[in-house]
Amino acid sequence: MLEELKEQIVEFALAAETIGLCRHRSGNFSVRDEKSGLICVTPTGVDRRFMRPVDVVVINAQAEVIESIMGLRPTSEALMHLAAYEARPDVHAVVHTHSKFALSFAVLRKPIPAVVSELAYLGCSKGLIPVAAYGRQGSQKLADSVRAPLLGADALLLASHGVLTVDKYSLEEAVLKAAYVEEIAEVYYHALAMNGGKEPPTLPLADLKMQYPEQIVQG
Ligand SMILES: [Zn+2]
Repeated sequence: MLEELKEQIVEFALAAETIGLCRHRSGNFSVRDEKSGLICVTPTGVDRRFMRPVDVVVINAQAEVIESIMGLRPTSEALMHLAAYEARPDVHAVVHTHSKFALSFAVLRKPIPAVVSELAYLGCSKGLIPVAAYGRQGSQKLADSVRAPLLGADALLLASHGVLTVDKYSLEEAVLKAAYVEEIAEVYYHALAMNGGKEPPTLPLADLKMQYPEQIVQG
């Protein structure tokens, strides 16, 4: 079932790893089928270099396994993906990574401001990438922590953990957003370092909205 979506998961999970967004089996990916409401999600414990469409697990909105051809379990972060879909019925794909520069700010629980205009593409209504409250990995508390930030952003940091991005249209776009988060985090890190730790200038929210008006979530 849902073969096309499973193939997308395999393709873009590997692409995300190849561009350095998630290594050592960290990170997970999912896509929701609009018709059935079922969700294809990466399995736990499978090296993405060898992952095949048959390894992808299909779950429902209650986290019950509907299909697992190889008998694999869904990612331990499945509850977080489900919370994202529940909070944002418009969302088609969810991506979770542990990319290094973004994770460094997540460790500090420090939102990333709009130092470059790419941030507008992330649908961040307040002009910064927010930080969700801390919750243990795999816990319901972590899942619940992403709900409120997602109402005003398509990308957020998970306190002391990583990055979560969503997209209305495709998994490819959600991965691209995760790549933007990492690039903006890296630029912000260098700007802080070159500026003696002082905050760099940020772009006005109005300019961000003009640049990518259709991406800004009303919040
Ligand atoms: Zn994680």
